[in-house]
Amino acid sequence: MKCPNCKKGRLFSAIPHKTFPTNGLLCDICSGSGKLPDYISYDPILGDIWKGSRISKGITLREQSKLLKMSPSKLSKMERGYFYNENMTINWRDK
Ligand SMILES: [Zn+2]
Repeated sequence: MKCPNCKKGRLFSAIPHKTFPTNGLLCDICSGSGKLPDYISYDPILGDIWKGSRISKGITLREQSKLLKMSPSKLSKMERGYFYNENMTINWRDK
């Protein structure tokens, strides 16, 4: 599957920005390969559910990541729909 996060492994700013590199940044999801790695499942709807659930409780990303004992960067990816094939299932949400 093509990486839904980037264009051929690179990330570009949605809004033109002076200091943003013209050749983009390396994609943090596919590490520049342009293909979604096998160990990541893409489910943007589930990501939205996670994010909505957190926001409805008034918890910040940082607080939630502490509660779940995971890094804020991983949680942020998850909320964008990128689930690492570890134990990140829907059941895990209520932990
Ligand atoms: Zn990518």
